[in-house]
Amino acid sequence: MSRHVLVMTELRSGTLRQVSYEALTAARKLAEGGDIIAAVFGRDLPDVTAELQRYGANNVLYVDHEQLKDYATDAYLEAWTYVIEEKNPSVILAPYTAIGKDVSPRVASRLGIGLISDCTDVELLNGRIVFTRPIYAGKAFVKKTFREESRVFATLRPNNISAEEASDARAATVDKVSVDISPKSLRTVVEDIVQKTSSGVDLSEARIVVAGGRGVKSAEGFNVLQELADVLGGAVGASRGACDAGYCDYALQIGQTGKVVTPDLYIACGISGAIQHLAGMSNSKVIVAINKDPEANIFKVADYGIVGDLFEVVPKLTEAFKKTLS
Ligand code: FAD
Repeated sequence: MSRHVLVMTELRSGTLRQVSYEALTAARKLAEGGDIIAAVFGRDLPDVTAELQRYGANNVLYVDHEQLKDYATDAYLEAWTYVIEEKNPSVILAPYTAIGKDVSPRVASRLGIGLISDCTDVELLNGRIVFTRPIYAGKAFVKKTFREESRVFATLRPNNISAEEASDARAATVDKVSVDISPKSLRTVVEDIVQKTSSGVDLSEARIVVAGGRGVKSAEGFNVLQELADVLGGAVGASRGACDAGYCDYALQIGQTGKVVTPDLYIACGISGAIQHLAGMSNSKVIVAINKDPEANIFKVADYGIVGDLFEVVPKLTEAFKKTLS
């Protein structure tokens, strides 16, 4: 049975976020020959048709509007709802990012449809769409289906479905969608966005994360981790212990109440491994833990453990990687 699948893509600084390709890869599993429609939202949109087509989209919708320049809940709610109503897809896939988390439940509520959020996998079992999502802060996974498959809506956690280009990519048609967003309907307006300084690698999409905990002991201590992250082309993250202590910004917090990351390599430095921290990183592909305490809980989830002082171990790793990678 073929299905029309609508994928809500996401742009950052004019470039498609990786999770958009992951969602298109998931869409191909479900479409079974049906249309794969990719919707792009923003203002003065770049031409991303070729990329979207490579990952399987055969219809690209550009929803370009002044009010979509920066993310604002009400404006995106109007735009997403309009596109869904216009295209009437049987499956809607959106990223479980800050935007997707905020707008998807509102869209689902407005349209009176169900939503399965934060899915880590999607598959077809006996012809039914089955989503996998974590429960109990990632300690277990459940498989969920919709009772009726007339309208299926799910958000996908970044970095879980591996993005693959379509071997049978079809030519994509392009539509410009004109949506009516009245400034009067907007309860909040974004006046300005102040970009925080960062190494440039987005933590939630980084393939390598070097994370520090209270054991890093100071904001300056994080420079040692940043150097390792820079050499590896990764991003720096932190435990809540480190954020609470004021060593770094809460935007770096990983865990149950922070970001969930699933990089290829996670290097935990001076992090004890509290359950709330593990909730945000235990699905990383390879975990390396550096801790002075051989009994630290983090070693229970680590693939490689180094018992030692992070201020001795991390600079040595940085030097070694500098030599091997140069
Ligand atoms: P600590 O537990 O103090 O561990 C520091 C570690 O550093 C120790 O293991 C120590 O042996 C090691 N160490 C010290 N010096 C060195 C050195 N020189 N070299 C090597 N190792 C060294 N936490 C999160 O991280 N993310 C969350 O999202 C989160 N959400 C929470 C939500 C709730 C509702 C609650 C109650 C708690 C939450 N927490 C969260 C807090 C969590 O319970 C822990 O308190 C926190 O993760 C501890 O941070 P830490 O591992 O950096 O610090």
